[in-house]
Amino acid sequence: MLKHKNILLLFVSAFAVFSVLSFYIDLKWWSFLPFFVFWVGLTIFGSSNIKADYFVKSYCSNPAENNLKIAISFDDGPHPMTEKVLDLLKKYNAKATFFCIGSQIEKHPDIFKRIVSEGHTVGNHSYSHSNRFGFFSTQKVVEELIQTNAIIERFSGKKALYFRPPFGVTNPNIARAVAKTNHYVIGWNNRSLDTVIDDETKILERIKNRLAPGGIILLHDTSLKTVNVLEQLLLFLQSEKYECVTIDALLNLPAYEN
Ligand SMILES: [Zn+2]
Repeated sequence: MLKHKNILLLFVSAFAVFSVLSFYIDLKWWSFLPFFVFWVGLTIFGSSNIKADYFVKSYCSNPAENNLKIAISFDDGPHPMTEKVLDLLKKYNAKATFFCIGSQIEKHPDIFKRIVSEGHTVGNHSYSHSNRFGFFSTQKVVEELIQTNAIIERFSGKKALYFRPPFGVTNPNIARAVAKTNHYVIGWNNRSLDTVIDDETKILERIKNRLAPGGIILLHDTSLKTVNVLEQLLLFLQSEKYECVTIDALLNLPAYEN
């Protein structure tokens, strides 16, 4: 299996074999270079692809789902734009999952409470959503997870079990942190790129092309562009007879501790 620990073991073994061989035959140092480049390449791939399951087990879809069910998820709120998202979800009778940033919940506690009271699921998306999150120590990641869980509990009474790493980045420190805090790492299999692509039609087409039962769609409740895309998406899903459910309903995996 292509897992961080197996690859590391393979890399160390190759290095050991290489070292022993160098006593007997004339090996140049650079003959080990391809192994090293391969290892670095895999590490970069594993860190930036949450679906690869390279460092940590992550839940990105339910491939066993036979019914027309789909989970829409929103990252980086709560945000003033979240209100418009909630209005649309209500209008089209859809449920969703919101991965909230701790510092944003502190800024907009009433919007956060509205998410929960309208039957949507909430999860932890770190406290700071720092650009350097991928470089944080295990301890620092643990602190952010605990701090945000405490904020979620203060405003909802719920102990969140879901964590979505900022930028979907995973690494050994994040893997150790979630093992300590007992969070499930939740990813996606349908990335809209709604924060990258400007054209609303292109975002919608991208989502439609990747649409399949049991999928998890990634959006951000932080822009009017996404709100516009969401209404078109909900209309499309309705015409295709898809049901929008929360991630815990899709995966049959508890979102909160009892
Ligand atoms: Zn984010």
